[in-house]
Amino acid sequence: MTIKNRRNALRDYYSTDFDVQVLSRVIEFSSFSTREFGFVSLSGKFFRNIAFENPKALQDFLIDRCPTDAYIGALYDNPPSRKTPIHTLEWKGHELVFDIDLTDYDAVRKFVCDCTGANQVCVRCWQLINISISLIDETMRRDFGMNELVWLFSGRRGVHGWVRDPETVNLDRDQRQSIIDYLSVVKGEDETARVQDRKLLKYEFRKRTEFTIFKYALKDIRRKDLVEMGISASAATKIVSQLKHQEGKVDENLIRRFNKNLASANKYDEVIRRWAPRIDHKVTIDLRRLLRMPTSIHGKTGRVARILDLNTIFEFNPEDEPSIFGDINKETE
Ligand SMILES: [Zn+2]
Repeated sequence: MTIKNRRNALRDYYSTDFDVQVLSRVIEFSSFSTREFGFVSLSGKFFRNIAFENPKALQDFLIDRCPTDAYIGALYDNPPSRKTPIHTLEWKGHELVFDIDLTDYDAVRKFVCDCTGANQVCVRCWQLINISISLIDETMRRDFGMNELVWLFSGRRGVHGWVRDPETVNLDRDQRQSIIDYLSVVKGEDETARVQDRKLLKYEFRKRTEFTIFKYALKDIRRKDLVEMGISASAATKIVSQLKHQEGKVDENLIRRFNKNLASANKYDEVIRRWAPRIDHKVTIDLRRLLRMPTSIHGKTGRVARILDLNTIFEFNPEDEPSIFGDINKETE
């Protein structure tokens, strides 16, 4: 696609479909003018240290300049600019954010689908992302008392979670790291990543993790899959017939049975390892991080980084998301 066509597609999108008011779901508008923004220009140049007096000025900029990518950063005591870049300013806060990307699941994706390499994604491996969203969202609400969480499709291979509750804005690096530690069932990134000792996890959180993961693991499971997991033939038969009897509904009873069978087959850690959330902690603890702007365009795919509806996330298929650049660009992701 030529630069001219890309510019037209972006201008079209930002002038008709983009509503800058939607950003109030992730950031506070009263401090808008001292917020850092960053962009990638049509010619591929990355620039940051930009601020806007108000949301309208930002929307005008998007329509006028048609950047291929747009990002939101932290808050400062004064508006960032070329003359006053962020390292010369006093940091005043950043929302708590989570970055979950299929890149971090490469070691375990092979258990759920045939995708290979960095560019492939399908509805099956996307379930790994969905499990993480459900678990983190519920835990932030219940265990941390947060109310305003927004989950965003990144436009490519992952999602971002934004916690908009005001008390998160001033958290320092260590506090953010301790939230990550609380949420980390798996330590490490490769296939042999260590599963956190069950005794070290908070009871409620551990139960929730097991329920979320096992519920997904049991969905559509066949007897032979259970036997392959090391569960005895008779126990596998019982689970499958119970599932059939309950018309596929996975309830607490079934979870308890599955948990016990996994433990006696010594496969508990393996199943948890496959499906547990993998959060890119570097993003969460980086206080000056630029994160893709909600409902902006992902420059490589032309897809909208749209806000996800948690009630229907398990139906979301990233491959079905339209590209404002048309189909040509999809092939070159
Ligand atoms: Zn896949």
